[in-house]
Amino acid sequence: MEESKKIAYFSMEIGLDPAMPTYSGGLGVLAGDTILSGADLKIPMVAVTLLHRKGYFYQRLAQDGWQTEEAVEWVPQDFARELKPRVSVTIQNRPVAIRAWEYAVKGIGGYTIPVYLLDTDLDENAPQDRMLTHHLYGQDLKYRLSQEIVLGIGGIRMLRALGHAQLDRFHMNEGHASMLTIELLDERIRSRQGGAIVPDDIAQIRRQCVFTTHTPVAAGHDKFPMTLVREVFGAHEAFGFEDIFCCDNQLNLTYLALNLSHYVNGVAKQHGEVSRQMFAGYTIDAITNGVNASRWVCPSFQELFDRHIPGWREDNFSLRYALSIPCDEMTQAHQLAKRELIQHVNQQSNLGMDTEVLTLGFARRATSYKRADLIFTDLERLRAISKNAGRLQLVFSGKAHPNDTEGKELIKRIFGAARELRSAIKIAYLPNYDITLGLLLTAGVDVWLNTPQPPMEASGTSGMKAAMNGVPSLSILDGWWIEGCIEGITGWAIGENHRLEHPRSQAADAEQLYRKLEQVVRLYYTEPGRFCAVRTHTIALNGSFFNTQRMMQQYVLKAYFG
Ligand SMILES: *Cc1c(COP(=O)(O)O)cnc(C)c1O
Repeated sequence: MEESKKIAYFSMEIGLDPAMPTYSGGLGVLAGDTILSGADLKIPMVAVTLLHRKGYFYQRLAQDGWQTEEAVEWVPQDFARELKPRVSVTIQNRPVAIRAWEYAVKGIGGYTIPVYLLDTDLDENAPQDRMLTHHLYGQDLKYRLSQEIVLGIGGIRMLRALGHAQLDRFHMNEGHASMLTIELLDERIRSRQGGAIVPDDIAQIRRQCVFTTHTPVAAGHDKFPMTLVREVFGAHEAFGFEDIFCCDNQLNLTYLALNLSHYVNGVAKQHGEVSRQMFAGYTIDAITNGVNASRWVCPSFQELFDRHIPGWREDNFSLRYALSIPCDEMTQAHQLAKRELIQHVNQQSNLGMDTEVLTLGFARRATSYKRADLIFTDLERLRAISKNAGRLQLVFSGKAHPNDTEGKELIKRIFGAARELRSAIKIAYLPNYDITLGLLLTAGVDVWLNTPQPPMEASGTSGMKAAMNGVPSLSILDGWWIEGCIEGITGWAIGENHRLEHPRSQAADAEQLYRKLEQVVRLYYTEPGRFCAVRTHTIALNGSFFNTQRMMQQYVLKAYFG
């Protein structure tokens, strides 16, 4: 059955089911929330990703915090349905067969969006090609380019083989998917029985494509030397169009997406600005990220909202009525979430954490610019805050990319600080941060901490999950927090919103963090009524806005049907 306008959403990773290890972090979880809210809003969409049969890794942390990785064993047929059609792409002159598994995402009204997980692990493929859909962000450049051919070229072919003849928009969630533009071009040329590429062909592709860029970090933008592209993908007439399909003897997937999309956006207002500086000459809009409310509100708050804000799942804007929820009920719902988290922490770590102690949470990918260890810049200072202003405990989580040695060292440093502070401040590091742990943490801590190096945090979404559960953020002004922070009302800013060109020092940021933390700790212990008012405002002001329902409405108006 074909709808009149249909969107095909492509993402290298999508976090669908907490037990399917098909995502690494923020990008994948956002993709999952996007599709969930798309289904809630009954937006005609289909989605394409890779199966990642070996999962994004199982994280083991040694006594000293050193991370090692293992493949995640999981059984695709327990989650998804194998589909019949096979398509093929050419990689290094070999045909590579692709099958798809279907996972149906169901919205609150029962509308479903199919997600197709591409899989090359088939008997007819050469051994090295069977592995192409095994590891998310694994191995080398050649592997990455091959995966991107499977996703972009194979993805379009699979959609056609599955009967999706009429697709009106192709949304590339990050540049990884932009090889799809070449297949769209080839489709167009095949449909008129060949001939050379003309400017109108390119204009036509552009009309159909939408591109969302997600990070100012260089590693997030894939580029490949043309010698490798010729070896893996082969020659293509399009590469003759120097300014559009490649530049400087490189295939840059970000530029490919930029050049072939009629609508491009960053994922928060500031990220739009940063992207316009990075990619001068392009028109780049901003649509601020969100989270799916039904997925990211914990059970005790779901129950609370059901009683006070009926219909909040269908209409996330109505979360503004959280202002009318009495504080004692709010605090009670939070204590239930907190007890669940603390029980989990104690079971995992035997630390004996206390539900009456102010608990800070920090969980995200362990990588340098996120600065998980900023709070440990001065251990004596931290010890003094806990002693004088009120007791503190901290819960951390997050994986380092297998090749990110600095990220792994960062985890070790947190373990080291935890050992040194053991007698004064309890600090846990929970392994295997995932969607389930993400909810437990963002709902169960009292304050959500975020200390990235600006302007590297494009958006950040975990603070939005916390806000949905009445947990305020204490964060550097970067990414979404520039929009979400109303000082003392929805949470607290660490330092000023420096102009982007000003370098900042770690010591200065740490000083600002300690000052603000001390105020927050005093507020928590001495003015519970005011602290509770902050909880209420995080939901009413931030939960009602930083959700994927509002976000998808903006994509529909600006990107899909704009
Ligand atoms: C939400 C989430 C992220 C992204 O959080 P950020 O704040 O954007 O870093 C990463 N991993 C998991 C498991 C999540 O749930």
